[in-house]
Amino acid sequence: MQRYKNFVNGTYLDNHTKEYFAVVNPATGKQIYEVEIADKTVLNAARESAAAGFKVWSAMDAVTRSRILMAAVSLLRKKNHELAQIEVMDTGKPFQEAVAVDVVTGADVIEFFAWAAPGISGSQQDLGQDFYYTRREPLGICAGIGAWNYPLQIACWKAGPALACGNSMIFKPSEETPLGALKLAEIFTQAGVPDGVFNVVQGAAAVGQWLTACPGIEKISFTGEVGTGKKVMTSAASTLKDVTMELGGKSALIIFEDADLDNAVSAAMLGNFYTQGEVCTNCTRVFVHTSIQEQFLKTLLDRIRANIKMGDPMDPDTNFGALISSEHREKVLSYIQTAKAEGATQLCGHTMPDLPNQNQEGFFLPPTVFTHCTDEMTLVKEEVFGPVMAVLDFDREAEVIQRANATHFGLAAGVFTTDIQRAHRVIHQLEAGICWINAYGNSPAQMPVGGYKQSGIGRENGRETIRHYTQVKSIYMGMGPLDSPF
Ligand code: NDP
Repeated sequence: MQRYKNFVNGTYLDNHTKEYFAVVNPATGKQIYEVEIADKTVLNAARESAAAGFKVWSAMDAVTRSRILMAAVSLLRKKNHELAQIEVMDTGKPFQEAVAVDVVTGADVIEFFAWAAPGISGSQQDLGQDFYYTRREPLGICAGIGAWNYPLQIACWKAGPALACGNSMIFKPSEETPLGALKLAEIFTQAGVPDGVFNVVQGAAAVGQWLTACPGIEKISFTGEVGTGKKVMTSAASTLKDVTMELGGKSALIIFEDADLDNAVSAAMLGNFYTQGEVCTNCTRVFVHTSIQEQFLKTLLDRIRANIKMGDPMDPDTNFGALISSEHREKVLSYIQTAKAEGATQLCGHTMPDLPNQNQEGFFLPPTVFTHCTDEMTLVKEEVFGPVMAVLDFDREAEVIQRANATHFGLAAGVFTTDIQRAHRVIHQLEAGICWINAYGNSPAQMPVGGYKQSGIGRENGRETIRHYTQVKSIYMGMGPLDSPF
């Protein structure tokens, strides 16, 4: 079986302990390759290489850096098909998604920051004859820690702005999806990114913990669960590292009685079943106005029956893949059992006979919809991270805003209505960082994304992100004799 290594200083590096872990294809349940765990030797080498890489990279002018990153963007696009296949094998998501979204949106973000980098500048202000100016400088070594749902895209979304701003990076992908980041490292090297600027270290929480506590690493950009994010921040505080936190959510989609119903159903399906429900911004609380609930549910179930094709994710016709692991499927199933026990009504899901049978070896679980849900139910309060939609009803605008905000999460929200004043009025009152009106889920490189409340700190994408990967140096220039009492 093929065994991959850690990527340090522009090449693959052996570990000393010989420890490794195996990676499983979620669609078959079979081991597909092995990966060496980053031991102390590898981790120290990664830190030294990132320090050396930073010196070279940050000294380059921004236009040169930009050209090198654009070469990486071209390679990513050229290798889209091959990279998409890797993402499908690692995550179990449908190839039709991975080939259209995962690599492309990763490349788009690197391209956006490559274009933006030469425009990064400071300012100057006169103070009488003296003056000061500012420089926007890179932070140094940044660490990226990624989740398993969009492995390559997450690596690109962190590496793009970090490198464009002149930083170096040590990236740790999830142990469940480690290959995409290694391929990105190879592409950066091929594109001309100097050795040491982008390193990939492999392993589980212990490797992540090492990064968060490591002196000399200036920033952690983390994507994962709220609970893990709190641990990461606590550990990062020991050396006062800067942090970006892209965490979980329990987002609300609000569908008013005047909404375009077909579009609203599309949004609810995209926001619950895309990537088999494993998307952080998912609108897992779908609030539907009481007057249209029956029609909404009928359209929804008709479209689930007619259009969801669950099966081999490599088949280009499949639009619904397998969950990441057997443990994760068990977790999602336990939420389904709890929802039933708490009185919600299951309209479709893993017991529904007219959907394809669950593949016994892969970790499949069909789209599941619950109605008669209440705000107190576990399913409505906790992040499930699987294809389970909770439909709730409401009558009044003020009521639905208050209920949508009654959560410690604040990642995303959506509103469907044809009343433009209501659309903006409601969205402005929702406590969420990423909002859509008459749309759901699209996240272009130009648009900053990140969470309110416990869903995150800082932003990814958009010009906003440059502030999170640079620091301002102020320089006062004295033009005359220094005034001193001594
Ligand atoms: P986890 O929080 O379990 O893990 C995220 C990463 O952190 C993994 O690489 C994991 O390693 C690592 N890790 C685990 N413990 C520690 C630790 N103590 N210190 C440092 N690193 C650690 O999240 P999942 O991978 O399960 O991803 C799902 C979650 O990610 C969901 O909550 C989802 O909402 C969120 N997410 C948020 C996004 C956003 O942009 N807001 C986007 C995508 C996902 P390993 O897995 O190898 O053990």
